[in-house]
Formats: sequence, structure tokens, C-alpha cells
Amino acid sequence: MILEERPDMAQAFVEAAWNAQERKHPYNPKSAGVTTLIGCLLKAYYQRTGQLLEAPDTQSMLTLLLGTNGHAVLGKAGDEEDVPISWAMYSAEDDRFEKEMEITGYVDFMDGGVPCELKTTSMAPGKISDTYVEQLAAYCWMLGVNAGRLYVVHNTGFKKAVRCYTFGFTNDELAAWGTELIRRLTKLVESVEDWDRSPFTAEYWEDILRPEHHEWQCKYCGAKGTLCPGGPGRDAHWFEAAKRLGT
Ligand code: SF4
Repeated sequence: MILEERPDMAQAFVEAAWNAQERKHPYNPKSAGVTTLIGCLLKAYYQRTGQLLEAPDTQSMLTLLLGTNGHAVLGKAGDEEDVPISWAMYSAEDDRFEKEMEITGYVDFMDGGVPCELKTTSMAPGKISDTYVEQLAAYCWMLGVNAGRLYVVHNTGFKKAVRCYTFGFTNDELAAWGTELIRRLTKLVESVEDWDRSPFTAEYWEDILRPEHHEWQCKYCGAKGTLCPGGPGRDAHWFEAAKRLGT
């Protein structure tokens, strides 16, 4: 018997699985997914303009793929899984409607008409990220429903726990959050369209887009230290939208 360990084949296997996933989301320059919009806009700009070719390392790919697998199993608890949704803005021209901009997303599962978001985290039970709320609120706004549910699977070493949180958003909260998402999408689309138009535009857009992130996102960003110094951002976008309502 000849036994040989082949790290190159192991890596190729993970990359093939990763690439098969990626093909599910074709890129449209006037469109962005909810997860892109609640991430750092500057990072999305670097990726879309080809400045940041960020293929995640094998460890990150595996973590994300195993999370997807867990979602596929746990999502069977609902009526429908992995439900594609979108919000689009149209402009009428010569009696033809042209899609101007689009926000897309996938709801992990629907249960009795309630969008359910499923997260797996290594954070200790009881802790949730602001971005979980932002994502769920985005789906509620896109679907035109006020109630959403968040399931958080805490996977901390040998200990596993699950927590469920129900949310009831007001119409005003959802409208403010929708306005915030459209503002973020508009900035991203405009900055990419403007890319390379003059030597000054890149710097101009970097200054505009840099504050549009949560500071912790810099820790996981491939642009940090090369294209961007990172640093503080506006942080919780959802609460920023809520603040404008005076709540
Ligand atoms: S380092 Fe931080 S601010 Fe800069 S692109 Fe990455 S996430 Fe955004």
C-alpha cells in the first residue's frame, strides 16, 4: 500500500466546493446583496473595482461551507428554505421599465410567513451581533412584513446551544432601514461607476466610503494594512437609522 497525504488535493477540493457556491450569485453592477450592504462599503468598492481580489483562505472557506451545510440541515425546520428575495427600483423610459438598482437576499427559511435568519457563531450564548438584526430587518423590509425571527446556534468548542429571538419592527423602523439600505447601495453603485474616471475619484470615494463600516469588520478584512488602514466607522447602521426616527 502506498499512502500519501495530498494537501494540494485537499485544498483543491475545498476550492471547488467554494466555487460551486459562488456561481449561485451572478454579479450585477447595479445590484448588491443585503450582506454586502451591511458589510464595509469600502471593501465592497475595492472588490468590485478589482483592487482587492480576496479569495478567502482555506480555513475561512471551510468555516463558511460548514456553516452553509448546517443551515441546509437546520433550515428544514421551516416551511420553505433558502428563499430568494429582492427589492428593485425601476425607471420608466419610453414605456419600458428598466431596472435601475436592486437589493437581493436569501432568507434562510420561512415559517408560517415569518422570515427566519439562522446564525452560527463562536460567541458565547446571550451575545448577538448588530449585523444579525440588520440582516433580519432588511428581509422584513423587502418582504413587507413586521415580524422576524432569529435563531443563533452558539458553537463554542464542545458546548453547543441555541437561542431564539423574535422581533417586531414598526413600519417606521422598516421604512427608515429601507432608506438606509438604498442610500448605501446608491453610494456603492456610484463609486464603482465613477472608478478610474480621474486620478482624484479613487481618493474621493475612499474618503466617502471609509466610515461606512463597523470597526470589528476590519479584523477580517484582506484590505487592511495594504489598501486601507482600517479604523473606526459609523458602526451600528440599524441603530443609526433608528436614531434618525428619534427612537
Ligand atoms: S480595513 Fe476596515 S475600513 Fe478598510 S476596507 Fe477593510 S473593513 Fe473597510
